[in-house]
Parts: sequence; C-alpha cells; structure tokens
Amino acid sequence: MYRIGKEEIDAVARVINSGDLFKVNKGLMEVMHCEEELKLLMGCKYALIMTSGKAALISALIGMGIGPGDEVIIPAYTYIATAIAVMAAGAIPVIAEIDETLTLDVSDVEKKISKYTKAIVPVHMRGFASNMDEIMALANKYGIRVLEDACQACGGSYKGKRLGTIGNAGALSYNYYKIISTGEGGALLTDSRTIYERGLIFHDSSAVKFFGNQLDGVSVPLFAGNEYRVCEITGALLREQLKRLDGILADLRRNRKTIVDAVKDYLNIIPSNDSEGDCCTSIGIIFNNEADAREFVKAKGVEGFLPIDTGKHVYTNWEPIMEKRGALHPAMDPFKMEANRDLNHHYTVDMCMKSLNLLSCIAIIKVDPDWGEKECNERIIALKSASV
Ligand SMILES: *Cc1c(COP(=O)(O)O)cnc(C)c1O
Repeated sequence: MYRIGKEEIDAVARVINSGDLFKVNKGLMEVMHCEEELKLLMGCKYALIMTSGKAALISALIGMGIGPGDEVIIPAYTYIATAIAVMAAGAIPVIAEIDETLTLDVSDVEKKISKYTKAIVPVHMRGFASNMDEIMALANKYGIRVLEDACQACGGSYKGKRLGTIGNAGALSYNYYKIISTGEGGALLTDSRTIYERGLIFHDSSAVKFFGNQLDGVSVPLFAGNEYRVCEITGALLREQLKRLDGILADLRRNRKTIVDAVKDYLNIIPSNDSEGDCCTSIGIIFNNEADAREFVKAKGVEGFLPIDTGKHVYTNWEPIMEKRGALHPAMDPFKMEANRDLNHHYTVDMCMKSLNLLSCIAIIKVDPDWGEKECNERIIALKSASV
C-alpha cells in the first residue's frame, strides 16, 4: 500500500550524486534534517532516527536506565520485537491482557505491577491508540515509566497528541509493513533530555564524538552502546515519506469512515480509545465466538483475518520468551541472571486467556488509502452480505 515514487527516486539520486552516503558531519546531512522535520511533525523535543523500530525500543529502555532486576509490562498482543527489546536491555517482560480495543487492558496491567516493575510498554496495535490517560495515571501512581510502541501507528494520535509523544518515550518503525516505509528503519521520540542523550550515545557509541553540534551540551559520559545509525539514503527517503504521512492518514480515515458508517448497524465494530486519532489501517469487528468470526472472514470478498492467526504477534508463539532463551550466552540471558532471580518470568500458554479469546473472536479488515468510492462500495457490499 505504499505511496512511493518520483520524489523518493529524486531524493535518493540527490544523495548518490552528492557522493556522500555517510550520515556523519559532511554532505547533505539528510538524516539530521529528517530528525528536525520528524520532531516538528510529531511535536516532541528530540528524535533519533535508527535502523529499526526495535533498535528504537531498546535505545529508549536503555535511556530510561532499565536493565537486570527490572520488570517491563507489555501486552499479550504485539510483535515479538517488543518482548525481545525488553530482554535485550537485560530486563524481564511481564505479559498483560489486552481488551476489546486490541491494546493493553489497564486493569490487568495494574494487577501485574510489582516492586520490580520499571516501565509499561503500551503498543498501539494496527494503529489503534492505547488508553493513554489511564496508563499515564497508573504510571504516575506507581512511579514507573511509559514507553509507547507506536511502530504500527506512525502519525496517529490520542486526544490530539501524536502517538509516541505521550509517554516518556516512543518508538516508530519504517519497515516493510508499516504506514510509511524506508524498507527498514525506525525512530526514538522523547521530550526527556536524559533519554535523548543516552539514546544518542547508545545508538551510535563509536561515532558519537564526531557529531560536533549534536554532542554539544551532552552531559552523560560516553558508554559502550550499539550501532544503529542509518545512512543518508534512508534519511532522504524518510524525508519524502514523512511529507506523505498526513495525506495517507487522511485517506485511510476517510475510507474507514465510509465503510464503517455503512456497516455499523449490521456488525459490532470494536471500541476505540480515540476514534479520531486512530490511524484507520484496519476495521475490527467482534463476534460472539471464534466459529462466527472464522465464517465471516472466509465469506466472499471480505478478505479479513483473525489476529490469533498472525504468528509472532501473539505471545503463545514467542518461543524465545515462552521457552526462556533470552540470549545465546548464558551469562547474557536475562532469565538466568542473578539480578532477575525473584522476578516474574513464569510464562504459560494459558496465562492471558482473555486476550486469546478476543484475538479469536475479532475479525480484522485492512483498509487501503488508495481505495476510491468503487473499492469502498465493494467492501461494504461484501461485509454486509457476510453479516447475515
Ligand atoms: C514492526 C514492529 C516492531 C519492530 O519494528 P522493526 O522496525 O521491524 O524493528 C515493534 N513493535 C511492533 C508492534 C511492530 O509492529
């Protein structure tokens, strides 16, 4: 569903013609310009563009000072990268239920908070905003951090603020499956100077000293990090993709509204924490049972699927977590670390039955921003006839 074309080709050509594909210092400084533009578009103080959404999640957790001895609460329905990012920081993922919105069930999150909990990671799955007011209130009550995984929700918002800018930090992804794409890529967003400085060092620890102006005023001492820099081609591509973002979202929202308005009397559309801010990449329809949901998605022209069937998005399919292999080297494995000995890493297939039931009773219909009236009407007719 990408919108990608001449503008991106010209931007990449500009970088190649400049003869300087490396981000640091010289050349066109596409990545640096892109970070400025991303900050403005998202409405946050700091942005770091990285190799992936997962790199941004890990950098944010490191930036929050999270590590061995800490529990981080994540939802039962998210891409496995969310859980692995927690383990990459040396911490333990604790899995909480989702509700009908397909995002974190805040009451279950509260039940899972322990004296070891350091952060909550609400994931805005399929562009649906998590219940950020309640999550922030809970985090404030217990003095813990919030990292928004907005990898599937770039540009979406909650009560007028862009997703990824409400918690202490947020992560975006630009991989193949997301709303806009650079093939691979991601970004860390934050208003926190500390998270930004630590993220800056962590995502570029070897070269960070060359970033003349970016390092100005950095007070965090350099520590060993990872290499998550992107090249100028990614920066140039993303600058063009960002220009398209709000147009794509407007078209997704228009198409989703057209379809939902026409079918809402026939089908149970799932509730939303902010229907205005929703990215509208999907329509969720809830059924009384799995058999009805399966029959619905199989009907002619519906082209839907059940989230329970999407593999690595459901916790029961996260082998490295369920089977507790947190790293190859035992000393690097959070599940074997002394600091994590008393933490909650008891995982069972039936630990989040509410989520498994919901993921089996909800049908997802994808929405395309490039559908016109004809395609929307075809979809409406298919959904209505499958509903009877
Ligand atoms: C895609 C995705 C990620 C990871 O993004 P990458 O850029 O592939 O690392 C993390 N969380 C969620 C919810 C995702 O959908």
